[in-house]
Amino acid sequence: MTNIADGSAALVLFSGGQDSTVCLAWALSRYDRVETIGFDYGQRHAVELEARQRVAARLRAAFPDWAARLGDDHMLALPALGAISDTSLTRATEIEVGAAGLPTTFVPGRNLLFFTYAAALGWRRGIATLVGGMCETDYSGYPDCRNETLQTLAKAISLGLDKPVGIETPLMYVDKAGTWAMADQLGGKALVELIVDETHTCYLGNRAHRHAWGYGCGTCPACELRAKGWAAWQGAP
Ligand code: ZN
Repeated sequence: MTNIADGSAALVLFSGGQDSTVCLAWALSRYDRVETIGFDYGQRHAVELEARQRVAARLRAAFPDWAARLGDDHMLALPALGAISDTSLTRATEIEVGAAGLPTTFVPGRNLLFFTYAAALGWRRGIATLVGGMCETDYSGYPDCRNETLQTLAKAISLGLDKPVGIETPLMYVDKAGTWAMADQLGGKALVELIVDETHTCYLGNRAHRHAWGYGCGTCPACELRAKGWAAWQGAP
């Protein structure tokens, strides 16, 4: 995590999932102006993109102070990323751990592209702080989620734009239980309930079953992680 940049505005990589929603709340509690960016690369589940709209609308309704800071949402279509990926997120292949030890949901280098596009958009919007929910704790298999990767990328982007750009990753060393705790600290019960009801993380796009921790199939890796984190947070003293 770094604190380069002007400090007054942030652009949050926002997918409508639990992690990026907590990051959005984190940014809204720190920056005067917060904008969001999302990427459509042919995700199998339109449900993810719908979740973005619901989360933003409910944040505005439940948190007037944050509503005043929450600015434009930007949606970028990246069909090229979907075209070159052969993963469970973009094709109807089964989720499993591939030969390289990475889940087949892994999209090679995805976060490098996301942040590079975000930086270019941020340049046009006058925003030099980029915020993302990447985390080393739960997904150590994703090399583009690592702190060193992202801080080195921030340096490359800063050089490429000839302007300091910071990448903030408030969840980098936080596990899923800690993410629930952070939501509670930032927005109390109202934010925790918003995340349970509206965010989406299930790989299978399942919104038929509502569990204590939210909607999902309950058995895919993303659901298991979310449920385990919830249970650990609930059980914490
Ligand atoms: Zn699931």
